[in-house]
Amino acid sequence: MTQATVKKGILVKPNEFLGIIGGGQLGRMLAMEAKRLGIKTAIFSETADCPASAIADKTIIGSYQDATLLDEFSRLCSVITYEFENIPLSVADYLGMRSQLRPGRDILSVTQDRLAEKTFLNALSIPTADFGAVAYEGDIKLLIDKHKKSVLLKTRTQGYDGKGQVIIDNPKMATMAYYDIKEVPAIIEEKIDFKSEFSIIAVRNVDGDFLSYSPTDNIHKNGILIKSTAPSQLSANILKQGEAYTQKIANSLGYIGVLAVEFFVSDNDKVFANEIAPRVHNSGHWTLDGCYISQFEQHIRAICGWKLGTTQHHSKSIMTNLIGHDIDNWETYSAKANTKIHLYGKTETREGRKMGHVTELSSKI
Ligand code: ATP
Ligand code: MG
Repeated sequence: MTQATVKKGILVKPNEFLGIIGGGQLGRMLAMEAKRLGIKTAIFSETADCPASAIADKTIIGSYQDATLLDEFSRLCSVITYEFENIPLSVADYLGMRSQLRPGRDILSVTQDRLAEKTFLNALSIPTADFGAVAYEGDIKLLIDKHKKSVLLKTRTQGYDGKGQVIIDNPKMATMAYYDIKEVPAIIEEKIDFKSEFSIIAVRNVDGDFLSYSPTDNIHKNGILIKSTAPSQLSANILKQGEAYTQKIANSLGYIGVLAVEFFVSDNDKVFANEIAPRVHNSGHWTLDGCYISQFEQHIRAICGWKLGTTQHHSKSIMTNLIGHDIDNWETYSAKANTKIHLYGKTETREGRKMGHVTELSSKI
């Protein structure tokens, strides 16, 4: 175990620094909420001019492997968090010995590798799609033969927004699919014929208090989240199951901070966990506008040792991502009276890149 002892109580006060690894839109929205609370933020990013650097009080640009920069970062910040889960574990360990890394490295090691993640979920008796490790192309055919239906081939590490995934509808495609993902270690999953997808955004603090937001119905296209609606339209039983699974995950690791768990619901109402995100999540962006306390503020409260806030919502919210050139319509969105618009300040528009989001609010709950 390479983590400093977990400290209790308030660790970051107003005017003190909170560290955030990663400078994308999640880091930016965390920095904005921290600023409102009077907390300063230091962003550690490998890319200059990132969306979070426009807001942060300090930006450290450089390699995550640069010990001098990591020392500077941890001297400034007694608590360090991250906006993405693909931080090298050696870096997490280095920072975790010097500052409080929250959430801790255990959840990182689970969520960085889809094989470890699904194995961990099943060990907690949380159902997932049937899966298997792929070390060579023959492993793919085994699962296809077992299920006699479409399967998904996914790289074990570094995947996001549907990247590093291929659907295999026909066993003859297995070899090509394996080359498509560049023969890296992979996992193969049965394709779940889900009737819907939802996620639970929840928070746990160092004392073990656990709260979750109203569950969110999600729609993905080509592996990218396009729309989230809260409250969810699914039945209370299904949603309770998702909440119970999320709490079990958080408790099992002594989790501190906000986490998101993505679920599939099958035709016969069985709930399968798809993925855990050990951080604030795109399907929780609506909480900025539809709730009294957003997921970003909540995460900061939890990791800095402040009391948690309410997870209650006051409005029905429909969040739509502005992906790639969707952002060209910003003026149309900005003209809608009941719509909050969030643009991330990215100067280069690329296909599939999340450029902003809008949240349409209504009082009907
Ligand atoms: P994220 O951006 O959420 O991290 P990701 O690239 O890690 O995405 P997943 O969450 O595993 O990928 O998959 C993205 C989407 O692809 C899912 O939300 C779902 O719509 C579809 N999908 C993934 N796995 C399966 C599966 N086993 N069965 C059916 N659909 C799936
Ligand atoms: Mg996902």
